[in-house]
Amino acid sequence: MRKGKLIIFSAPSGSGKTTIVKRLLDKDFKMEFSISATTRKPRGEEKHGKDYYFLSPDEFRTKVKANELLEWEEVYTDKYYGTLKSEVERITNKGCNIVFDLDVVGGLNLKKMYGNEALAIFIQPPSIQELKCRLEGRATDSPEVIQQRLDKAEEELTYASGFDHIVINNDLESAVLETEQLLTKFIND
Ligand code: ADP
Ligand code: 5GP
Repeated sequence: MRKGKLIIFSAPSGSGKTTIVKRLLDKDFKMEFSISATTRKPRGEEKHGKDYYFLSPDEFRTKVKANELLEWEEVYTDKYYGTLKSEVERITNKGCNIVFDLDVVGGLNLKKMYGNEALAIFIQPPSIQELKCRLEGRATDSPEVIQQRLDKAEEELTYASGFDHIVINNDLESAVLETEQLLTKFIND
């Protein structure tokens, strides 16, 4: 059976990456989401084993030491995120394509590891002001956490040119359509 392809999404927090990925998972791309491990707490309706594997710092460290992570980053101070090798194997071995939601550094690292087998897409917000509005509108983070994410966004935007494609998420429907077209081409090539 042909192994699945990898689709990587990165963006500053609040750009709309999760919203776009969820819309794409509903379409017929034979694609599954790689559930990452993280030490941050669940927010909103998030569930363990669906959105993330929510781990304690000790549990996360144990997995790092056991070499169970393909990549991992301290994305925010004391908040660790990582891709589990078991997720990649589970999904690609059954021939499904796999979609990753990673920070910009993790996204580019994975692209480097997989080359042409991976498509790396950067979801860009129309502006920092709009990013702030979206994070506030999502209403899942404290003002301090929102500020931390905005502070990091400026730097994250400088990584955009390293990705295969940049999709500006201004109008959601247009951004979904554009990513859908990129995926169709990549998966069928
Ligand atoms: P991310 O996964 O990049 O952190 P989310 O998908 O959680 O971002 O989106 C952040 C917020 O912005 C959510 O409340 C979402 O509904 C909203 N949103 C996403 N895309 C758009 C868009 N094109 N226009 C306006 N709001 C959007
Ligand atoms: P959030 O807390 O908003 O869910 O995610 C914060 C950041 O961590 C986002 O940029 C998201 O893409 C990134 N992230 C989520 N999972 C992983 C992962 O497994 N590895 C890396 N490097 N980043 C991740």
